[in-house]
Amino acid sequence: MDKLFTGTIKFRETSFEKNKKLFESLDREQAPHTLFIGCSDSRVVPGLITKTLPGELFVVRNIANIVPPYRISAEYASTTSAIEYAVNALEVENIVVCGHSNCGGCAALYFEEQEIAQLPNVAHWLEQAQSVKNEVLLKHPDADKAHREWITEQLNIVKQMSNLLSYPYIRKRYDEGKINLYGWYYIIGTG
Ligand SMILES: [Zn+2]
Repeated sequence: MDKLFTGTIKFRETSFEKNKKLFESLDREQAPHTLFIGCSDSRVVPGLITKTLPGELFVVRNIANIVPPYRISAEYASTTSAIEYAVNALEVENIVVCGHSNCGGCAALYFEEQEIAQLPNVAHWLEQAQSVKNEVLLKHPDADKAHREWITEQLNIVKQMSNLLSYPYIRKRYDEGKINLYGWYYIIGTG
């Protein structure tokens, strides 16, 4: 934890001071241009890989950068709420779904039941990408593990983008040319 404590102090003394005007202008409001939906993976850092400043990206991160299909839900729908806020309240112009190489979430789709027994919520969450796995197995039955994961990660991005269009307010904005949807694939080892 020492690293985090000294890091925050150092941030306050250096980066904050250097960009004081920006932080002050953001004090009471935000107007991000892009909703960035990425994986929770510690190696995929939205602000860092896009070289954006605070206030530019509205970020949702979850395991395997999943967009749950549209529904109004009685559960506490974290990702869906963030999407709703970004689009309807903040009126972002762009949505990026960013997948990445060596995604543990995508790999876990292929785990045996006992391998994921300690992660029941993760297993349940990943059911949302089950159709991606099914498609990969059907179309690429001979793919080795590395190839299979590579295809799964990329197909998963397409699947989540199509789920975005199940949100009526996104569909409407998309059809009217008011919002752009992008699928990105970030390769960790090569940047
Ligand atoms: Zn991941």
